[in-house]
Amino acid sequence: MPMRIERDLHMATGNGESSYTKNSRIQEKAMFQIKPVLEEATREVYTALLPKTMVVADLGCSSGPNTLRFVSEVIGIIARHCKELDRRHDRPPQLQFFLNDLPGNDFNNLFQLIEQFNKSTARKHKGEAEAGALPPSYITGLPGSYYTRIFPSESVYLFHSLFCLQWRSQAPEQLKGTKKTCLDIYITKTMSPSMVKLFQQQFQKDFSLFLKLRYEELVSGGQMVLTFIGRKHEDVLTGESNHLYGLLAQSLKSLVDEGLVEKEKLESFYLPMYSPSVGEVEAIVKQVGLFNMNHVKVFETNWDPYDDSESDVVHNSIRSGENVAKCLRAVMEPLVASQFGEAILDKLFQEYARRVAKHLENEKTKHAVLVLSLKKPIHV
Ligand code: SAH
Repeated sequence: MPMRIERDLHMATGNGESSYTKNSRIQEKAMFQIKPVLEEATREVYTALLPKTMVVADLGCSSGPNTLRFVSEVIGIIARHCKELDRRHDRPPQLQFFLNDLPGNDFNNLFQLIEQFNKSTARKHKGEAEAGALPPSYITGLPGSYYTRIFPSESVYLFHSLFCLQWRSQAPEQLKGTKKTCLDIYITKTMSPSMVKLFQQQFQKDFSLFLKLRYEELVSGGQMVLTFIGRKHEDVLTGESNHLYGLLAQSLKSLVDEGLVEKEKLESFYLPMYSPSVGEVEAIVKQVGLFNMNHVKVFETNWDPYDDSESDVVHNSIRSGENVAKCLRAVMEPLVASQFGEAILDKLFQEYARRVAKHLENEKTKHAVLVLSLKKPIHV
């Protein structure tokens, strides 16, 4: 059965050892890094527009704790701001949060975290609550692809998306049904230039659609903070993701050689992803021409989410290999299982961990993460 993004793309469910909930530290660290950008955007939107009800959406929220970290950040920013203003007679705005993801996402797991979250918010912001500055907040789930319209026109004040926009809406149409080599599940140095171009064009198509849709949904003066995996250099053949997914392709290929995976299945498997450079992103924003770019930056984060050092030394490559494999498994498991079956998963990711360890011994590779904040101009 062919892969269908709506059905097969979601993070590993539940809250067990291999769930996304327990394996989302890279995203948590990125959330920490982008706090100043989020703070600036949130304050700017609120002070410029002073909405009574501020609709805020997290796109690609998944089922783990990071989306609630985001909600907590926004509540904190508005609460601090209202306390600083000390406008005793003005009430803080009501905050309405929409947590969006594809329908296959484990929303139930997320909803169960919300009750606990509401209690801890009340405890954390006791001071602001007593000062009458704590914004009342309401949290709702919103299933659907953000490559479609998901909100009424001009209704959202702030969009946020963390570690999602590297996912494509689908494989490039022309790739479907074509056979490729086993190792070309993502861009490789030996891939034909026309095939590389298909990956790039799919990104251009998806990202410009995303910008146009969000433009319609944002109020004038509304903003978006978008953080996703990109690449450091302009050359598409030297992207950091190429190594990460290349090692997955090699691991799958070794299972083909052992007779555990059918060659044809691997030949028709691709990753619906693309990691763009800053230049590519800027060009699309410019070409779409609807937003002002307030901020754009690239930062790096180690492949191993538990390695917080900034040095280029990998202290324990075996452990790091296992950590990277756990992290990628939490993200890719449903997609890989739908193509190759569940039986191979343990073996595949053991093999992957071994290959990542070997790679890291030679070179400590990092993810390049892009963060941009965009504003829909206020028309006067
Ligand atoms: N923001 C979360 C999750 C990142 S994982 C965090 O930082 O922890 C990426 C998420 O994007 C997944 O949950 C995946 O299901 C979601 N996603 C990918 N494509 C999507 C689409 N087209 N529409 C909505 N969500 C999507």
